[in-house]
Amino acid sequence: MTVQQKKDKNRELSFYTHNYEHLADELKKLDLLIQLRAVAFRLKTQVMQKTAASQHVYISHEEVDRLLSQNDPFVADHPDLQKIRNQREILQNEINTRVNTTIEHGMSLALPRLARLFGLSPFELQTVIICLAPELHRKYDKLYAYLQDDITRKKPSVDLVLDLLCETEVDRWRARTIFSGHAPLFRAGILHMTDDPQNPSGSSDLARFLKLDPRILNFFLGNNSIDTHLVGIAQGYNPPSTMDHVLVDPLIKTELLNLARHHFSAQKAVKKRLVFYFHGPYGVGKRDLALGICGQLNCPMLYLDIDLLLAHGSDVETLLRPAFREGLLLQAALYLGNTDVLLKEDDKAKSFFKKLAKVVEEYGWLTFLAGEKPWSPGGIFVHTVFHAVKLPVPDVPLRVMAWEKALKNQIADTGKEFAAQLANEFCLTPGQICDAAEFAQNYRASKKGQDEITLSDLYTACRNQSNQKLSELAVKIEPRYSWEDIILPEDKVAQLKEICSQVKHRYRVFGEWGFDQKLSHGKGLSVLFSGPPGTGKTMAAEVIAHELQLDLYKIDLSGVVSKYIGETEKNLSKIFQEAETSNAILFFDEADALFGKRTEVSDAHDRYANIETSYLLQKMEEYEGMVILATNIRENMDEAFTRRIRFIIEFPFPDEPSRSKIWQSHFPKEAPLGDEIDYEFLSKQFQVAGGNIKNIVLNAAFLAAENGGIIGMEHILHGTKREYEKIGKLWDEKNLYKPKSIAQHNSNQIPLNKLGGLRGL
Ligand code: ADP
Repeated sequence: MTVQQKKDKNRELSFYTHNYEHLADELKKLDLLIQLRAVAFRLKTQVMQKTAASQHVYISHEEVDRLLSQNDPFVADHPDLQKIRNQREILQNEINTRVNTTIEHGMSLALPRLARLFGLSPFELQTVIICLAPELHRKYDKLYAYLQDDITRKKPSVDLVLDLLCETEVDRWRARTIFSGHAPLFRAGILHMTDDPQNPSGSSDLARFLKLDPRILNFFLGNNSIDTHLVGIAQGYNPPSTMDHVLVDPLIKTELLNLARHHFSAQKAVKKRLVFYFHGPYGVGKRDLALGICGQLNCPMLYLDIDLLLAHGSDVETLLRPAFREGLLLQAALYLGNTDVLLKEDDKAKSFFKKLAKVVEEYGWLTFLAGEKPWSPGGIFVHTVFHAVKLPVPDVPLRVMAWEKALKNQIADTGKEFAAQLANEFCLTPGQICDAAEFAQNYRASKKGQDEITLSDLYTACRNQSNQKLSELAVKIEPRYSWEDIILPEDKVAQLKEICSQVKHRYRVFGEWGFDQKLSHGKGLSVLFSGPPGTGKTMAAEVIAHELQLDLYKIDLSGVVSKYIGETEKNLSKIFQEAETSNAILFFDEADALFGKRTEVSDAHDRYANIETSYLLQKMEEYEGMVILATNIRENMDEAFTRRIRFIIEFPFPDEPSRSKIWQSHFPKEAPLGDEIDYEFLSKQFQVAGGNIKNIVLNAAFLAAENGGIIGMEHILHGTKREYEKIGKLWDEKNLYKPKSIAQHNSNQIPLNKLGGLRGL
């Protein structure tokens, strides 16, 4: 079939195969309208010229009579005009039939679609066509100049539109409302009104020009490039066909999808706007979920970043409006990310939400808002269904999937194994998991060349993803100690190892074996270390963090507990809130500051202190990571509190053999040690804890650095004396060291007399 035959056939069938075909017909119709106007204009000017010539006066009596008569005799009845009117009517009917049939065939035509989207009347649509014509064909520049009797006036003016579309003066007046600034054509920015450049200040509204918006012109031409005003602020996304990639709890996915489908189902008579508010931590899948829903509703999504929008400086409404208009033109859902910046209770935020609600009401159909914190609109949205959805950090199976996806192209064999381990240990969102995998890859490349990523790189990357804000509230400790450094009775070490294995197998027990269903609270791991100062409580926390490769944050409770009522809770709440996404071990030192025995309530302050204690207990039980509390005196701790702790480890004061080992373990391999260091003497003679030994050894090393460069007993003894003074312990002459064999001493050793003050030890 030839192209012509095809066209004829379609005409027979009476539907448009393409939008352009319809536009061409509309232009034909416009041509008839122009012809009508041109013929009338010509008839009028012919008569006017004749009368003016015959009477030899500037304005004839006949012309004044004609101007004052009710009807314009030339336009109304002339047979030439009637013929054109008939032609136009036939064409109009044909267009109507073809448009209807085309729509029934499920095809979309730009003009009727625009009318439907923005609620335009046929008159408004004709106005749009008049403004569209010169954008499609330059002949209209000439024709419009001719009709306006001015070669400089090539653009359509309000007056020209009224002339073309209105038969009578009253019709013209009635039609003027569509040219007011609040009328749909201008509110939606479909047309813009501009001054006549020849006469900018003096032109009345009638003389002003009308211009079709470039985005709307593109819409007619089937070009779906985003509005140029939105470039850099909004981005279009084509959704995937399935929701499989969306790593969000399947129950949430199904519920939301059902809700959206039901809301937009054809059966529903009242079409309200639908606004979802997704809130949850960074990377939890808010955008993916929205995109997944769009995919199921078969529509694209337009992403708008509020931060960028606000940074733009201009009035937000001037950008929100084109953005939502774009959503309508593309039949796309709108997604506004980062709404947290607007959750402040200030005037700017309130005004933004009001403007947003207005635009949603006008142009929105499906809108997604997304932020990290919960929010309720408090009646801002009218004629809108608002649905807030909390997206929590996904549980282990989804995290495993996220890891497998992220590592798929990076580690071929070990990827699956790593995925399970990392998912179990780090409570990260899918977005953070992607970032971590990328970080690990870059880290590997920058530090170690191009080898395959190791588990240790991934651990580093995970810690890097964890919330670093916690460092503002607590001190981050770099765990350097491992099992071989800590000297404790065997049983204590075994207990510490059990704690580690509880973290490692948390998912298996709670998740796979269903223990989380049995426990209403207390899934987190709370541990209490008690023992005298310097017995290794902090060290043990470091060993655990090192073993599990988790961050360790030390919070000094004496700094958190405030004398101001309610402040302590606020401080604690901040710590736990930040910790929630940090995956860190929280180490509360001097826990007795808060968990000391609960006082009998004697005044208001005590009562508040007890509330604070209960508050911390509750927060600890909700916290899914590990919390370690340390106290010097267990007896000082509240019984009710200690009952709820999962592990309690007593750190004993080190006995003589342990002290000996601690002494030995504190000298680094590289340190220049004298031969005669008598560990037996040191551990027997000095009843000090590991913390003191550490100080003494360090002092001795500095003394030796100043006095000869070899660490000897005299330096250690001097350091011990200083430590005794510091802790208020009595120094006894018995502490003087008598070398087992003076003769044996190393010739390199500094003679005791050279140390002056040390001799007196
Ligand atoms: P605590 O937290 O109980 O007050 P720390 O763990 O801070 O004590 O101990 C301080 C230092 O003392 C440690 O960094 C370590 O050098 C040393 N130390 C304490 N206890 C031990 C121990 N059991 N084994 C080895 N070193 C110890």
